[in-house]
Amino acid sequence: MTEMHRESPYPMVSLATARAMVIAQVASLNSEEIDALSAEGRVLAATISAPEDVPDLPKSAMDGYALRSADGLILRRVVAELTAGAQSGLLIGPGEAARIMTGAPMPAGADAMIPVELTEERDGLLSIQRKLKPGDYVHTVGQDIAAGQQVLARGTLIGAADVGLLATVGVTRVPVFRRPRVAVLATGDEVVEPSAPRPAGAVRDSNRYALMAAAREAGCEAISLGIAPDDYAGQRAAILRGLEHADVLLTSGGVSMGTRDLIKPILAEIGTVHFGRINFKPGKPTTFATVGGTLIFGLPGYPVSSLVSFEVVVRPALRALQGDARPERPLALAKLSTPVRPSHDRPEYQRVVLSWRDGTLWAASTGGQGSSRLLSMRGANGLLLVPAGDEILPVGTQLEVLITGAL
Ligand code: AMP
Ligand code: MG
Repeated sequence: MTEMHRESPYPMVSLATARAMVIAQVASLNSEEIDALSAEGRVLAATISAPEDVPDLPKSAMDGYALRSADGLILRRVVAELTAGAQSGLLIGPGEAARIMTGAPMPAGADAMIPVELTEERDGLLSIQRKLKPGDYVHTVGQDIAAGQQVLARGTLIGAADVGLLATVGVTRVPVFRRPRVAVLATGDEVVEPSAPRPAGAVRDSNRYALMAAAREAGCEAISLGIAPDDYAGQRAAILRGLEHADVLLTSGGVSMGTRDLIKPILAEIGTVHFGRINFKPGKPTTFATVGGTLIFGLPGYPVSSLVSFEVVVRPALRALQGDARPERPLALAKLSTPVRPSHDRPEYQRVVLSWRDGTLWAASTGGQGSSRLLSMRGANGLLLVPAGDEILPVGTQLEVLITGAL
């Protein structure tokens, strides 16, 4: 029988240090060109500038009449009707006006338009209720976007408005960063496929599926490496297999102090272990290594530990790998709406439900925060950073929170 270690040989690093060590190893992936008009969810790999002015001609901002402001309040003769999409070649002379619809190019000679609500038209003669200045109710050339103006910056996570902007300026193909390929390996003699019969005492593999889903949610392609039993050669072979296809490899389990916790020694043998312990709950044994350019995260086996560690250590790296200029979850201050018990020796990320009420962001605990209780993550949209301490924190205490889901 192997001796059990009493203390990990790996120095304990702070969470901030761990995150910085990870980011230091991240080089963004290369890019590929895709259809810009369905590029939402991808990160732009080049800065996009407008090739031309929008609008390209002066246009009517409303439905009404185009006219010469210098004519003042005189009765005007209505000489034409101009609609969006039509080019008239018309010249508005003194004392003349043209009906004009929203978005129609302004006719030559006219320097302003008046909304129909401020006018009367009878027998082809127009009276207006208000004096106009040059430019009134006219969209000028380049008013929305000027030619040459930067429209979207490299590193932008493309959303619906960005697709609209690309369409507006006629950019239909864009370079985006490649999605990272994330391979996930579960370990443990007791771990079985969720669809397989479960022998007494065995545990269904929730981590691999939850981590693959979390990786996809973070914009990655997820690859399953299956379940490796607690056997050095088998786990080593599975990791080497993953390295052939993956930019990032995640393992679940096997990083603690048990005699069957083999991941750290395997990673030390095949690559460089950057840290093997982090001073936070619930993910103390979280391990980070690199083999060549591939990032490997050894995540703890307890389901909550593995997902919270993913969230605070792995996810920013996955976002940074795909070039996201804002790889971190948003941070806010929240007030406790339920009391919270801190861990006595480590800062802890507790799962909370955040809600906005009476001008304040409130955090309600999801209940028991045990590392095996996956239900503590259900419905959670925030990770509350609870400093170590011995006193229960009362309702109203203000703490930092990472916003991980919709409010
Ligand atoms: P370990 O870190 O390997 O010592 O595992 C810690 C705990 O997490 C044990 O109770 C395991 O049964 C459990 N566990 C390990 N891997 C998984 C997994 N893939 N899915 C769900 N639970 C797991
Ligand atoms: Mg295990």
